[in-house]
Amino acid sequence: MEVFEPWRLILAAVLAGFLHFQVLCTSDVAPNYTFMQEATKAPPVAYYDYIIIGGGTAGCPLAATLSQNFRVLLLERGGSPYGNQNITNLATFTDTLTDTSPTSPAQSFVSEDGVVNTRARVLGGGTCLNAGFYTHADPEFVQKAGLDLDLVNRSYQWVEKVMVFEPQLRQWQSAVRDGLLEVGVLPYNGYTFEHIYGTKVGGTIFDKDNHRHTAADLLQYANPSGLTVLLYATVHRILFKTKGQSKTAAHGVIFKDGAGNEHRAYLSKETDKGSMGEIIVSAGALGSPQLLILSGIGPAQHLKSLGIKVLLDQPWVGQGMADNPLNVIVVPSPSPVEVSLAQQVGITRLGTYIEAISGSISSDSLD
Ligand SMILES: Cc1cc2nc3c(=O)[nH]c(=O)nc-3n(C[C@H](O)[C@H](O)[C@H](O)COP(=O)(O)OP(=O)(O)OC[C@H]3O[C@@H](n4cnc5c(N)ncnc54)[C@H](O)[C@@H]3O)c2cc1C
Repeated sequence: MEVFEPWRLILAAVLAGFLHFQVLCTSDVAPNYTFMQEATKAPPVAYYDYIIIGGGTAGCPLAATLSQNFRVLLLERGGSPYGNQNITNLATFTDTLTDTSPTSPAQSFVSEDGVVNTRARVLGGGTCLNAGFYTHADPEFVQKAGLDLDLVNRSYQWVEKVMVFEPQLRQWQSAVRDGLLEVGVLPYNGYTFEHIYGTKVGGTIFDKDNHRHTAADLLQYANPSGLTVLLYATVHRILFKTKGQSKTAAHGVIFKDGAGNEHRAYLSKETDKGSMGEIIVSAGALGSPQLLILSGIGPAQHLKSLGIKVLLDQPWVGQGMADNPLNVIVVPSPSPVEVSLAQQVGITRLGTYIEAISGSISSDSLD
């Protein structure tokens, strides 16, 4: 169990709320994504080599990569992040998270143990809502996960070229660095993406004008003739073939467009490369198991209690979810404080991470 020590908590002081100076910018103009359209324009039935469910942090780069050699369909239940000022501007970080309207890119929910939270509902997924802190994984973790370290390192560069920037440290984040060093979160490692003990400056997905770049930007790598991205396309069920097969195999999906019309997409019998394609579920930590359960894959008893026909009794689907423990201290300031999201981080040997964000909040909100 990871434990936060009180003195470390003091360092993690967070001044929630942000200056609301709306900055109009040009970087949020939609790129020329000829492959992107609303799902209402999709045919009732279509065939692809790969079908990716969820156009988030994982789904967008996957679609861009697979489209180089295959016909790929990316289905995203939300809309485009481009043109949404709240997503683009660092100063309106909390506005997106607190927008509870039905079309909000942030879907709010409360966990069974009462923790208020949000999950993304927009192309680009969590990168449209999050604090934008960028770092590499611990190489030990990469190896334990069975991933090819060389490929992972090359992938980092692919991502960094498009959406990672060196943050400009101003007063607050500099003070956080000094505080971390003073209490012994050592050594000081400067600006680095490496996951190493001590205090460091990580990368950020906000550029020098404080404009957010998201995973949707990675679609600029896509082969336009190999990719179709459908927005407001909510997948309701994955279709499985069971008859005449030794294993249950996914072969299609049912999704609904923004007007409520149903569409189906199926895997082509064979890709041009002669192999069978796949349906990839990248609908997020909550969306992915939810969709599997709705499709008949999950703990049999649970599915039966919901009246869902069991295709595969898989007891672990949707189990073992937990929130990371997060301790927050809010320090009110009598004068306005610069807006900054996590830039400095303290990585301790206890396995805790110390970050601090700053901004201004109206005094009413502190009541
Ligand atoms: C407030 C906040 C701050 C964070 N700060 C940081 C940070 O600073 N640095 C960091 O590295 N991480 C941060 N994270 C975590 C990070 O954003 C997530 O771990 C990451 O985005 C998860 O990626 P994903 O691809 O698994 O899911 P997501 O990016 O959530 O993508 C899932 C996508 O699937 C879509 N979807 C779901 N169900 C369906 C369906 N049935 N049909 C079609 N589409 C569907 C969703 O709309 C969504 O776009 C933060 C998260 C939050 C919420």
